[in-house]
Amino acid sequence: MIMNTEKLALHGGPKTITQPFKRYNSMGKEEVDAAKEVVESGVLSQFIGCWEPDFFGGSKVQAFERACEKYFGVKHAVTVNSWTSGLVAAIGAIGIEPGDEVIVTPWTMCASATSILHWNAIPVFADIEPLTFNLDPKSVEANITPYTKAIMAVDIFGHSCDIDALMEIAQRYNLKVITDSAQAPGVLNKGRMTGTLAHVGGYSLNYHKHIHTGEGGILVTDDSDICERLQLIRNHAEAVVADKGVTNLSNMIGHNFRLGEIESAIGIEQLKKLDGFVAGRQQAAQRLTDGFRGLAGLQTPIVKDGCTHAYYVYPLILNVDLLGVSRGRIHAALEAEGVVGLAAGFVNVHLLPMYQNKIAYGSSGFPWNSDICKREVNYAKGICPIAETLHDKTFLGFEMCLHELNNHDVDLIVLAFKKVWSNLAELGK
Ligand SMILES: *Cc1c(COP(=O)(O)O)cnc(C)c1O
Repeated sequence: MIMNTEKLALHGGPKTITQPFKRYNSMGKEEVDAAKEVVESGVLSQFIGCWEPDFFGGSKVQAFERACEKYFGVKHAVTVNSWTSGLVAAIGAIGIEPGDEVIVTPWTMCASATSILHWNAIPVFADIEPLTFNLDPKSVEANITPYTKAIMAVDIFGHSCDIDALMEIAQRYNLKVITDSAQAPGVLNKGRMTGTLAHVGGYSLNYHKHIHTGEGGILVTDDSDICERLQLIRNHAEAVVADKGVTNLSNMIGHNFRLGEIESAIGIEQLKKLDGFVAGRQQAAQRLTDGFRGLAGLQTPIVKDGCTHAYYVYPLILNVDLLGVSRGRIHAALEAEGVVGLAAGFVNVHLLPMYQNKIAYGSSGFPWNSDICKREVNYAKGICPIAETLHDKTFLGFEMCLHELNNHDVDLIVLAFKKVWSNLAELGK
C-alpha cells in the first residue's frame, strides 16, 4: 500500500481533491426531444377522474407503463407522481385497515414508514442486518403480533433485501409484503428483478435516483386485483367505483397521484439507459473497493451471492475500536481532503420527533392514543440496536448519486482515504 504521510488537510496540509467532480446528469438529447414532442402536442396530461378510457391516462403514461412491464418482467406497472405516492397507494391497495401493524425498517427514507400512517395504520420497526443494512428477517419475525398485516421491506442503498426469507415469513403468518426499491432499480436477486418479488413493489423517479423524471414513481405487481386498486387510488377512486362496478369499498378513498405525459415521455427514454447507468455505478464502486483493499478497519460493501448492487450509496463501516479514532474525526479528515458526499451515519426513522412524541394527525396523539391502536408500540432508543450503533458510531455512506465519477476521480478518493489512514495516529491524538 502506498503510504502518504503528508500533513492532513484538516491539520493545514494540502488537499487531495481540489477540483469539483462532474455532477451526475442522466438527461440527454433523447429526453429533450421526447419532452418537446409532448409540449408541442399540447396534451400534457390526459387523465380523467371518471370511468372512461382516459381514466388510465394518456398515450405516454400508458406507453411508459408497458415499457416498465417489459423491462421489469411483471404483469402490471402503474405510474404515479412520486414514489411516496406509490407507497401510499400500495398500503391502501393491499387492504391495510386502521390500527393494523406494518413492520418496517428504520433504515430508509421516512416515506416508507409514513405511508403506513397515512392509512391510520401503525409502523413497527424491526432491526437491520449489519452488512446489508436491510430488514433482518429474524427481527421481523420477533416483532410480529396478532395485529401485524404486512411487511414494508426496503432495498436500501441498492442491495436487495432478503426477500425469500421475508416472503416465507409472510406466507406463514398470512402477511402482505411491499418492497420499496427506490434505490435499487435494475438490480438482481438470484437472477430476478428486485422490486418485483413481493406482492407489490416499485421505484422512485425523483431527481436523485438512478433514472428520473423530475418527480415520479413506478409501482409493479403481478396481482391483477392489487393493480386495479392501485389504479383506483391513483385517480379519485371514490368517484369511479360505482360506474366501474367495484363492490369492495375498503380504502377506495382516492388521490390524485397521476404522472404527467412529459414525465412519462422522459421516463421511456430514461428506462432505456438504466442498465448503462447501473453498470457505470458498479464499475466505479468496484474500483473504490479495489482501491480500499488493505485499509485496516474499513468494511467495504458486501454483495450477497446471486445479487447485484446499484450503489445509490456506497456503504462503509469503520471498526473504530481497531482504528482508535472516532468516526467523526475520520469523516472530518476525509471532508477536509475534499471528498464530497460522505455522510457520517444514515438515519433511524423510529427516532424522528413524530415517533418519539407519537404526534401525527392533529396534536393529541392520533392514531397511537386512539381505540384503533390496539397496544402500546415502543419507539424508544434501543429497539433497533444494530441500526442505532451503525448510525451513531460506525457507518460512513458515500453518496454515489451526486456525481458521475470517472477513474481519475475514484483514484483521488482512494488517495484521500489512504492519506487519512496513514495519519490515523496523528488524527487520534
Ligand atoms: C427516494 C426514496 C423514496 C421516496 O421517493 P420519492 O419519489 O421522492 O417520493 C422512498 N423510499 C426510499 C428508500 C427512497 O430512496
